[in-house]
Amino acid sequence: MSFESIGDRYAPDIREAVRDLCAQFPAEYHRKVDEHRGYPDDFVDALTKAGWMAALIPEVYGGSGLGLTEATVIMEEINRSGGNSGAMHGQMYNMNTLIRHGSEEQRLKYLPKIATGELRLQSMGVTEPTTGTDTTKIKTTAVRKGDHYVINGQKVWISRVLHSDLMILLARTTPLDQVKKKSEGMSIFLVDIKQATGNGMTVQPIPNMVNHETNELFFDNLEIPVENLIGEEGQGFKYILTGLNAERVLIAAECIGDSYWFIDKVTNYTKERIVFGRPIGQNQGVQFPIAETYIETEAANLMRFEACRLYDDGLPCGAQANMAKLLAAKASWEAANACIQFHGGFGFAAEYDVERKFRETRLYQVAPISTNLILSYVAEHVLGLPRSF
Ligand SMILES: Cc1cc2nc3c(=O)[nH]c(=O)nc-3n(C[C@H](O)[C@H](O)[C@H](O)COP(=O)(O)OP(=O)(O)OC[C@H]3O[C@@H](n4cnc5c(N)ncnc54)[C@H](O)[C@@H]3O)c2cc1C
Repeated sequence: MSFESIGDRYAPDIREAVRDLCAQFPAEYHRKVDEHRGYPDDFVDALTKAGWMAALIPEVYGGSGLGLTEATVIMEEINRSGGNSGAMHGQMYNMNTLIRHGSEEQRLKYLPKIATGELRLQSMGVTEPTTGTDTTKIKTTAVRKGDHYVINGQKVWISRVLHSDLMILLARTTPLDQVKKKSEGMSIFLVDIKQATGNGMTVQPIPNMVNHETNELFFDNLEIPVENLIGEEGQGFKYILTGLNAERVLIAAECIGDSYWFIDKVTNYTKERIVFGRPIGQNQGVQFPIAETYIETEAANLMRFEACRLYDDGLPCGAQANMAKLLAAKASWEAANACIQFHGGFGFAAEYDVERKFRETRLYQVAPISTNLILSYVAEHVLGLPRSF
């Protein structure tokens, strides 16, 4: 890196170790995976073997018991190295749901195997095609029949199903018109993906702009054993929501990693590219957008570490987690724009990696939560403005 950043002082040993591992997977590796629409198996294996994918699993279950601060540093470094955390970040989010709300029996059954990499918990099925962000209207149902639940319905954009062994699935267990609050009556289940595929669950991959393995899922009388219910029946939406603050902060860190990658790339390029007899980086019209995006990234990073601190101290952090995600996604998108702009035509050539990272970082404006929904959260929950939906 050609510049310092505020985050360098957080978890420096972990940062350095992850950075060293990532350095073994240079730009050419990620470019090839993208070109072939493949999956970075070797990279994910290396991260798993080094224990980084089990960072949040408590030591008693075989993990390293690290906090969210450290977990975000791992994700940041992956993106900062030129990789894409989208291939493997699901495990970091989903882990919390199982750790916090799973029974001791479930934790003992799954967590040690996830820690060694024998099992992957990379998928979470929430979004549906006809309800979108309005999650409480989901139509996928789970009906109890003896010692199992029967699932019917459809999900869309469910990522990493083809590279995961387990999925956390949200389904309605009590019809919407029979609950007091619309957020009640939904439950979460652990789905054994191999067992379910072809036995009530069909997976249909969705080709998309990013090399992101994501799918449409169809459920036709899929049977899930009762022991795979996580927590209490009817409380699933609440459980999903509690995991979202961690998700927001992890995503913020990924955006910040992207942003530093873009800034580093464009800074180096504009120092060397000679047009009109001097480096293009000597023009203030080129310098200012880059300087501005660096300032915005540093500011987003402060909010990200404040959210991490609150989360790791067990304090409420909804506002900070949401604001960090919005600021970081904005900063990475601005950095991406400056980077592609000042690479001129070369920004569009695959061999420079800029167009790939540009596509990857654009996703954060929409998924896992759109910018508008964050603004709506802050308007309602922080500023006390009237509820709009
Ligand atoms: C590559 C990819 C991977 C994904 N992976 C997963 C996954 O693994 N699991 C999963 O469950 N989901 C996943 N998603 C889904 C993702 O979380 C949703 O796409 C996202 O939450 C937006 O929902 P939607 O697409 O239904 O948009 P909609 O709800 O249809 O909204 C469309 C747009 O309208 C605007 N909007 C909607 N409502 C409002 C409002 N009230 N006020 C103001 N503006 C509004 C927003 O700008 C929003 O972007 C993934 C999506 C993508 C693209």
